[in-house]
Amino acid sequence: MATALETLKQTFGYESFRDGQEEIINAVMNGERTLGIMPTGGGKSLTYQIPALMLPGITIVISPLLSLMKNQVDELHEAGVPAVTLNSTQNDDEYRAAMNSLLNEEAKLLYMAPERLGSEGTYNLLNRLPISLVVIDEVHVLSQWGHDFRPSYLAAVGLINNLESAPRVMALTATATERVQADLEEMLHIQHTVRTSVVRDNLTIRMEKGLNKKGKEDFIKTYIKEHRGESGIIYAPTRKTVDALTESLTAAGINAVGYHAGMSDEKRAKAQDDFIYDRTDVVVATNAFGMGINKSNVRYVIHYGIPGSVEAYYQEIGRAGRDGLPSEAILLYAAADLQTQRFFIDNSDNQTPEYQNLQRVKLQEMANYGATQMCLQRYITRYFGEDTPDCGRCSNCLDTREAVDITTDAQKVLSHVVRMLKSRGGENGFGKTVTAETLRGKVPDNFAWANLDQLPTFGILRGTPRVHIISLIDYLIAEGYLRVTGQYAGLTLAPDAMAVLKGERKVMRRQDIRSIGDRVRAGSPSTRDDLDEQQRGVFEALRQWRLELARVTEIPPFII
Ligand code: ADP
Ligand code: MG
Ligand code: ZN
Repeated sequence: MATALETLKQTFGYESFRDGQEEIINAVMNGERTLGIMPTGGGKSLTYQIPALMLPGITIVISPLLSLMKNQVDELHEAGVPAVTLNSTQNDDEYRAAMNSLLNEEAKLLYMAPERLGSEGTYNLLNRLPISLVVIDEVHVLSQWGHDFRPSYLAAVGLINNLESAPRVMALTATATERVQADLEEMLHIQHTVRTSVVRDNLTIRMEKGLNKKGKEDFIKTYIKEHRGESGIIYAPTRKTVDALTESLTAAGINAVGYHAGMSDEKRAKAQDDFIYDRTDVVVATNAFGMGINKSNVRYVIHYGIPGSVEAYYQEIGRAGRDGLPSEAILLYAAADLQTQRFFIDNSDNQTPEYQNLQRVKLQEMANYGATQMCLQRYITRYFGEDTPDCGRCSNCLDTREAVDITTDAQKVLSHVVRMLKSRGGENGFGKTVTAETLRGKVPDNFAWANLDQLPTFGILRGTPRVHIISLIDYLIAEGYLRVTGQYAGLTLAPDAMAVLKGERKVMRRQDIRSIGDRVRAGSPSTRDDLDEQQRGVFEALRQWRLELARVTEIPPFII
């Protein structure tokens, strides 16, 4: 029998294994129930395709998307591997052909959707086949702690466990937090987990903040024009935005197609093919696009709005640079976009309140991503339970603004949060707005709780604009000093806060509004001779200050 390495070379034409592949293959061949967590584009398909060829009998691959299955089957045919799919779009002839090749034991791989497993006919068929291995791809959807929970998958797992041939089991995903990993390990009785680094060295992560609708469109147009001829995906949060943006890009002479679940199957298939076969440069899409699309030369992924979770974000940007060449992921971050995502959560059907709350927590973590000044890649690796050094190339690593000591202001906010919590005598903190208002000495309207104006910290940041305080609170949340908890998003202290309150730890922030204001004041003219020069400096500093304030608060500069 050919070894795994020989199969890799002979059948797939690759020279060596990538990180994690061999370990997964060996574990599966040893009969261990295996979970593989590798980044998008990391090469997960080969980790079951090779065992499928080495084992006798048939390997079933459960995969959530039709388009994905078709792609994979086509690719396997090109490599000379007999693979089939059973799906609802097949006509009788196609179905019979697939069936025959399974019953004759010609086919080595069978791709199917989880819903398919539920039908009695299919289940009986499977029990007649010599199945050696069952693969669950995109397995994160099995966990309710994951970002894309699909209950239909659960039933499929139950059936797998009942198959008479007692096949080997493996599960694969690109995105699993430690909690999701633990959940999957338990559900699937995993014996061997292989987890490779989530870092993709060829992917540079950027964020652009404070752009309004027009600003975002202009940014995207300019970017595409500067990258003419390269493939890119623009993710937009709603179908309406996809349509509007596609139209606007097309009007600007850009070769773009739209893609969302509201379009006909035909139109969607065409859009996907146009993109895959490089007939169009850009696809503008909702998150319905992309799972399992194996286009290797996507050079950039731009998010017009923020996604619902860091996991979703990471999965979506993973579609850039599968070929290993330098690629970019850019998030156009506007805090206002959080509203769209909140709306999705509040109006999601058939979801338990617990599930909705979990989605709120995930959205908050995405908001933290937007406010952090930490290396963006590091933020993501930490989110997934890994911790990497600064990448040196993301927009935060390249931020050259000077870091200012804001410890005193941070202490004021943190101690106010503590006192507010005590005044309520409970666990549930007050929300951001109430906290900000009381910090600047205002009692919000219709406010019936405790006598907040009696607190010693009431008004401790009097005179500071509200937007500035909110931005400071967001920063303290993002850096792990404050936490947002409960359905009403109350503020409580996070573990790192104590060190700041005790003065053991400094809080630094890159060039916040205050420091620029200080610099403006410091620029007051001293002698007549250099008055003009200095005045110009002051005006310029003021202008910069307004732009910065607009950037941080996302309020258009002309209002400030
Ligand atoms: P994933 O499912 O992890 O997102 P894929 O299995 O689709 O990734 O693989 C991504 C790309 O990497 C594919 O084009 C695949 O052919 C290629 N690839 C996988 N393994 C290797 C390898 N060992 N050497 C070179 N290329 C590989
Ligand atoms: Mg895959
Ligand atoms: Zn970085």
